[in-house]
This record gives sequence, C-alpha cells and structure tokens, in this order.
Amino acid sequence: MLSVREQVPLAPFSFLRIGGTAQFFAEISNAGEAEEARQFARKQGVEVIVMGEGSNTVFGDGVIGRLFLQIGNHGIRIASEDEGSALITIAGGENWDEAVAWAVERNFTGIEALSGIPGSAGAAPVQNIGAYGQELKDTLLELGAYDFTAGKLVTLTDRECDFQYRDSIFRREENRNRFLILRITLRLSKSNPHIPNYPDVKTYFGEKGIERPTLSEIRNAVLEIRASKLPNPKEFPNVGSFFKNPIVTEDTAERLLREFPDMPQYRISSGVKISAAWLIETLGLKGKTFGAIGIYEKHALVFVNRGGATFRELREAASLVQERVFSRFSIQLDPEPLFVE
Ligand code: NAP
Repeated sequence: MLSVREQVPLAPFSFLRIGGTAQFFAEISNAGEAEEARQFARKQGVEVIVMGEGSNTVFGDGVIGRLFLQIGNHGIRIASEDEGSALITIAGGENWDEAVAWAVERNFTGIEALSGIPGSAGAAPVQNIGAYGQELKDTLLELGAYDFTAGKLVTLTDRECDFQYRDSIFRREENRNRFLILRITLRLSKSNPHIPNYPDVKTYFGEKGIERPTLSEIRNAVLEIRASKLPNPKEFPNVGSFFKNPIVTEDTAERLLREFPDMPQYRISSGVKISAAWLIETLGLKGKTFGAIGIYEKHALVFVNRGGATFRELREAASLVQERVFSRFSIQLDPEPLFVE
C-alpha cells in the first residue's frame, strides 16, 4: 500500500546535497504501488518524478510540486544459465555496485569494469552507464518497467531501449518519468575477462606485471583507480561526471586537431568522441572554485559542493564552463546528470 509523505527535503536524496523540497514523496516496491502513485498524482494534478539513489540527479531550489518516487525493491537471481553464459535478473532498487560484486563472486563476466559506479540497478539503463570500455547495453537483454502513460507493466528489449553513448529512450524528453524500471535482465558470460584498454588500467596491471588478471583483480583495479581519482561523495558531495564527452563529426574532429594537435580523440560508431575533461583542463579550470561549487582538483569533470551550495550557483558555474569551452573550441558541452526543477 502506497504511503505518501509531504514536504520532504530533497538534498539528502542527491549525491550533490543540493535541492529544495518535494511536495509529495513515496517509495515504490511493485507495480501495484506504482499504479496507486499514478492515481494519486492524477488526483493532485502533479507529475511523477522517478528517482534512483540520487547519484546522477540534481534538484532545483524551493518547493517542487511533484510526486517523487523512489524504487525500494531488492533481489538478484540467476534466471537461467548454460555452459557459456548466465542470465541474471536484478531488482531496480538494488545497489548497482553490490550487483557487480555479486556477479564477480560467481565469475560472471561483462560488468566488472562498471565496478564502483554509484546508483541503483534501475537507474543504470537510463544513461546506459559506461566505464573503461564496458557499457550496460553490451549485456542488457531486457528490462521490466511500470509505464505511467499506459498504466501497466511492460517489458522492453535492449533494442527498444535504443541505447546510445550515455543515453537511452529513458532520457528523451517525451519519456522522462514515463517508466519506473523495476528489474533488469543481463546476459553475462563465463569466459575469461580482458584487461580494459584504458591507460589507467593498463598501467595498473603493467606495474604489477599481471597479464591475465582474474575477474576480481579487474574489479579491484577499477575500484582502486576510481577511488584515487574521484572524490568520495560522502566527503565531497558530487554526482560524478558533470558533462558528457561531446561526440563530433569527422570534419569537426579534423578541424580541432589542426588547431589543437594534442587533443585526445576516440572514434566510436556515432562519430568522434572528445574528452570533456581535457577541454576543461586545457582552459585551466581544474581545481577552480565558483562560490560554493568547486571543480575537483583531481578530475576536471567533477563538480563538488563545497558546503551549502544552491542549484542557482551550480547552474551559474556550469554555464560559465560551457561558455568558456564554446568560445575556445566551438563545442557545446551537455550536462550528464538529470535536472529536476
Ligand atoms: P580516462 O581513462 O582518463 O579517459 C579520458 C577520456 O578518454 C574518457 O572520457 C574516455 O571515454 C576516453 N578514453 C580513454 N581511453 C579510451 C579508449 N581506449 N577508448 C575509448 N575512449 C577512451 O577517463 P576517466 O575520467 O578516468 O574515467 C575512466 C572511465 O570511467 C571512463 O570510461 C569514464 O567514462 C568512466 N567514468 C564515468 C563517470 C560518470 O559519472 N559517468 C565518472 C567517472 C568515470 P569514456 O568516458 O567514453 O570511457
């Protein structure tokens, strides 16, 4: 049975610890409660907002007149397995990294490079989480969600999710808050893992002289590297990368390389990926502060709340970085976290 609270402070629900107040707030564990929430929202004339653990969400200041829903279901199980692979089903409310640890313990390969990514399993498909060469889309087979528009449970295949680089149908304007992801099903492999082809990971194993690491060695490497570069959200509130790496056309990439020969570029299926961190660092903005907002000194993509920051201050800092990047490189940076105002 749905229990709705009123006037709930939102800052504790965002890893940035910024945010005003939710007019309505409820926890959802199943489709029945989702249906009740739909009816409640209709009666009150407010929209629903689906939230995960808040690791990639930024809330506006003031009272936000909506019904905020947090997913509270749990459980991970093997749905089926054969000699070479296993299908695992993870409840949307499970912590993502605990699910990765669970898979690694059982020697299931495919998500080990996604170790240490904060947030819930249900939020993982929204931005098609990715790190060190692995993306959720590489293993996701299908997911189960409550569709607030249709008012029923639906199953969406990986194709229907239309996964792109840090993007999926769930981030598109027309689908925002339409789906509440209750479970995801992944196909993981039982084959041996590879060292991710990323500089930090290669250096890590190179220095240790390990050529064929085990799955848990790869997980530990990723956890260690992340911990050395990224601020702990409990100490320095942050939502990870604040901007997505821009994807440009071949022509633009060539033009940029003529002007900035050191610029790192990576060819991917949809174009050429530019490192947003490099752009910001090249402008000398790494480590700079803008009032209560700081750009983390060890990672130029991470905005940190230095204490008492407001959404307005965050917006201003983000706009300033976007303007500086655009005027120097003619590249538009798009924020990665979702804004709820
Ligand atoms: P990094 O290894 O210093 O690399 C800098 C950038 O170059 C990354 O954005 C990465 O793209 C790209 N890159 C490096 N080697 C590549 C290769 N072999 N093929 C394709 N692209 C390559 O990056 P980092 O900042 O320390 O992050 C390490 C990984 O964790 C990255 O995959 C990053 O996306 C992920 N991460 C994500 C978040 C988040 O909040 N979303 C936060 C921290 C780290 P990609 O970003 O596309 O991989």
